[in-house]
Amino acid sequence: MTDTAAAVRGKVVAITGGARGIGLATATALHRLGAHVAIGDIDEQAVRASGKSLGLDVYATLDVTDPDSFEAFLDEVQTRLGPVDVLVNNAGIMPVGLIADEPDAVTRRILDINTYGVIVGTKAAVRRMLPRGRGHVINVSSMAGETYTAGLSTYCASKYAVIGFTESVRVEHRGSGLDFSLMLPSFVNTELTAGTKGIRGFRNAEPEDIAAGILSLIARPRPKLRVSRVFGAAVVAQKFLPRRVGEALTRLLGGEHVFTDDVDPVQRRAYEERARAQGD
Ligand code: NAD
Repeated sequence: MTDTAAAVRGKVVAITGGARGIGLATATALHRLGAHVAIGDIDEQAVRASGKSLGLDVYATLDVTDPDSFEAFLDEVQTRLGPVDVLVNNAGIMPVGLIADEPDAVTRRILDINTYGVIVGTKAAVRRMLPRGRGHVINVSSMAGETYTAGLSTYCASKYAVIGFTESVRVEHRGSGLDFSLMLPSFVNTELTAGTKGIRGFRNAEPEDIAAGILSLIARPRPKLRVSRVFGAAVVAQKFLPRRVGEALTRLLGGEHVFTDDVDPVQRRAYEERARAQGD
């Protein structure tokens, strides 16, 4: 058995947004290795279908923007599986487009789900974990939380906020026995990126790559992990370049158009409709 397998076996792990994409890939990998996994998602049909097909004991409807819904989810996990060892705050949406065209309701929804939902979940988990003196919260931000991109302004804002929040909570709990980690994925082939082309010269990651990263964080908690490594290295390198050079490079790789005029509206439509309406 690998170190990761041994570390995750028997752990109670709750994953938000677990009906599909990165959340589902993470649930699948953990379940396979003998963790006790619960998934929560606002998409009732999808979470039921995924939970059943994986054979999970707990799959529930969850709206991360509603503290009562989050508490009810964690209560159910605790009752059925035991106290939560790891909470993965993964639920998120990414409507794209020019800021001038973004309806206020969409702006609020992005911040509500991607930022407020992570804060709600972290608080709920911390309150349960502190008395036990152990537990691990993994917040899924994005490399969009360390860079900036046209057509993605509110999403970037929401993911930057998750980084500041998680780092602060981590130092606030130094010595408490609790761990806090950030997972920063690059482009990943899920419905969230439907109809987009990615950055020229970089291969998109698969949800399983991000799942493997989350498992490695559970096995060995660290403050921050970027996946893919290559994309992560490029993001870090850009921080050291003069602004004009970094932005020129991004333009050269097509970065200015990825979430604006290069989006395929037909391939993108179903995702945009789902994400913009989620929670209505
Ligand atoms: P996805 O759309 O495949 O899955 C996200 C899930 O979250 C969906 O099942 C959706 O129903 C659920 N969800 C949405 N609102 C919710 C709410 N209010 N409460 C509970 N669940 C809710 O997306 P994904 O690509 O798997 O993304 C997962 C996370 O990874 C997101 O936070 C996203 O921002 C982040 N991320 C994704 C990429 C990428 O390229 N796919 C890159 C970086 C970061």
